[in-house]
Amino acid sequence: MPSPFFEKVASAVEAAIHDAETELPADVVSVLQRAYAEETSAVAKGEFENIFENLRIAKERDVPICQDTGLIVLYITLPPDVPYSAELYEAAAEGVRRATVSVPLRPNAVDPVTRHNSGDNCGYGMPSIHISPGDTFSVTVLPKGAGSENMSQIKMMLPSEVGGIADFVCEVVKAAGSRPCPPMIVGVGIGGTFDSAPALAKEALLLPIDSMDEFEQSICDRVNELGIGAMGLGGKTTALAVKVKRGACHTASLPVAVNIQCWCCRRRRVEL
Ligand code: SF4
Repeated sequence: MPSPFFEKVASAVEAAIHDAETELPADVVSVLQRAYAEETSAVAKGEFENIFENLRIAKERDVPICQDTGLIVLYITLPPDVPYSAELYEAAAEGVRRATVSVPLRPNAVDPVTRHNSGDNCGYGMPSIHISPGDTFSVTVLPKGAGSENMSQIKMMLPSEVGGIADFVCEVVKAAGSRPCPPMIVGVGIGGTFDSAPALAKEALLLPIDSMDEFEQSICDRVNELGIGAMGLGGKTTALAVKVKRGACHTASLPVAVNIQCWCCRRRRVEL
């Protein structure tokens, strides 16, 4: 018999996944609408219209926005009175299993070598769960599709190459081309270590995209000069936004990770 705590977490994760998969956050929709209004290419405008029609149908029929429902990445904050426990992980995984059936999600989690599919979007290290202390008990869901994830890269730059960060981001976006279903959101993690820079880049995708600081905007402008456009068919908007998270790094290092996110930037936060 599951404990009330287990049930609460599993239900919250299942509900957050449902909401994330079927409706985009308001900031993402508003930036898509702004990009559509500013677009001058008829072909690109048509692709934005397809996106809006896709969103309308998903909401109306209560079905996932995209057939690639992704792998589930979870960010959990724990206040001091909620214990960090194995039960928390088990309950979160149960929420993913339930959502796989109820949303439904495509079973995407496989063994990396045998390619055996677990059938429930769970496995060793999956769902990917990040836990940190916080003022409230919250769960944020970030379903991540392979089309954009596969185009992500990390580079261990030299500290003297700090002026080349924007060049590296543009190289990654250019190499990705149409494959991550642009217009994309570019998460950039600067600093940390070889393992934490990509984590920073993914956390950057949780930030609201309807505003950018000067540094983010300058990289975004460079990316949009590439002209890849909506679905790679050319146009003014290749990236809806560039979001950056920084972490302290070794004095002799400059890790830079770029985590690409397609237009279908699904995320949902719930408080328990
Ligand atoms: S890249 Fe995004 S929009 Fe394209 S198939 Fe994958 S999840 Fe769907």
